[in-house]
Amino acid sequence: MTHNGPVLGSTRLTEEQLLLREAVRVLADERVAPRAAAIDREGTFPEDIRQLLAEHDVFAIPFAERHGGLGADLLTLILAIEQLSRACATTGLILAVQSLGAIPIQIAGTEEQQDRWLPGLASGEKLIAFALTEPDAGSDPSGIRTRAVRDGDDYVIDGGKRFISHASIADYVVVFAVTNPEAPKPSRRLSAILVETDRPGFKVARTEHKMGVRGSPTAELAFDRLRVPVANRLGEEGQGFAIAMQTFERSRPGIAAQAVGIAQGAVEAAAAYANQRKQFGRPIGELQMIQALLADMDASTEAARHLLYTACEEIEAGTADAARWAAIAKLVAGDTAMRVTTDAVQVFGGYGYIDEYPVERMMRDAKITQLYEGTQQIQRLIVARSLLSRS
Ligand SMILES: Cc1cc2nc3c(=O)[nH]c(=O)nc-3n(C[C@H](O)[C@H](O)[C@H](O)COP(=O)(O)OP(=O)(O)OC[C@H]3O[C@@H](n4cnc5c(N)ncnc54)[C@H](O)[C@@H]3O)c2cc1C
Repeated sequence: MTHNGPVLGSTRLTEEQLLLREAVRVLADERVAPRAAAIDREGTFPEDIRQLLAEHDVFAIPFAERHGGLGADLLTLILAIEQLSRACATTGLILAVQSLGAIPIQIAGTEEQQDRWLPGLASGEKLIAFALTEPDAGSDPSGIRTRAVRDGDDYVIDGGKRFISHASIADYVVVFAVTNPEAPKPSRRLSAILVETDRPGFKVARTEHKMGVRGSPTAELAFDRLRVPVANRLGEEGQGFAIAMQTFERSRPGIAAQAVGIAQGAVEAAAAYANQRKQFGRPIGELQMIQALLADMDASTEAARHLLYTACEEIEAGTADAARWAAIAKLVAGDTAMRVTTDAVQVFGGYGYIDEYPVERMMRDAKITQLYEGTQQIQRLIVARSLLSRS
């Protein structure tokens, strides 16, 4: 294996990955960071940032060249999400959700379906959402009630979804609905169906008021005799659960990258503040208790990052244990982001608790990485199951 980049634990970045990371870092520092506080305060989707990402081909990263993408690997996508999230967690999530929604098409779509939908997603002209969760089906998708009933060449979908990122602004939503209620195994009851959001019967019931990632709209959806061609189904009937689980193997590293980026942003903000804030006649960065906080923050962020990069390499290489690697990366990165951002607020003292500085936003943003795409408890279940099945 030949690599040009500097050593990063057991991982080395290629020349292309280093260049892309640097380009996204500059974009994030110069164009995204100055908007982050306002995006959080206003709590509306930043259309200008979406345009910025489209103009700079950032949406193109996870798509194949034949669909207008850059044909990059998972680690390259992760580097971009990390750099964007370091400046603004909502912006990192724009890229992560676009990839989350596209993965079912990439892994289960026919060539015709991929040609139809992926180019618009790669250019950023179209947005997509991924709709699994329902009011009574969060950690346990077997509780999904949304029904898709076959009627000639169409499905008629009735039901609803809750907590769906970007669904109120998306052009497409991948909906997981029950098509085979009688299937003996709950995991064979669902199908994945791509719904164009301008179809009659598709309704955004409301959007949520949230603690963090406040520029990312989270929508409740209602489907009332929503008619969609059977040709919009991804994969076979009954494969929906498997498609969702395979999707998480490639999308959870994106949430881990968001977490590592948030943590890195907090480390940098805290170090800068510790150099400048004086108490007892000297910078607080000279106090050993502050130094210990900063050192632990830096070390744990670096550890989470290296684990994430290794997980990406394992998943990209086709390991049989992809679900475990994705879960480990998200578990460690999410918990790290929560701890590091909380400690960053501590370094800032009372100033950490007000919105004059970014660390209070980062602490609120970090919390979601422990919750969505499977809570930390669900990640632990996956890791434990994998471990026990091997021993
Ligand atoms: C901002 C935001 C954006 C989201 N975006 C999307 C999206 O785009 N698409 C989508 O489909 N969903 C999305 N979600 C939904 C998210 O994935 C769910 O909220 C999450 O999976 C948890 O489900 P729940 O909220 O119903 O919690 P519950 O499943 O009710 O869990 C409650 C508590 O019980 C614990 N628990 C549950 N089962 C177990 C178990 N077996 N063992 C141990 N502990 C357990 C959980 O860890 C948690 O602590 C989003 C949520 C939020 C808040």
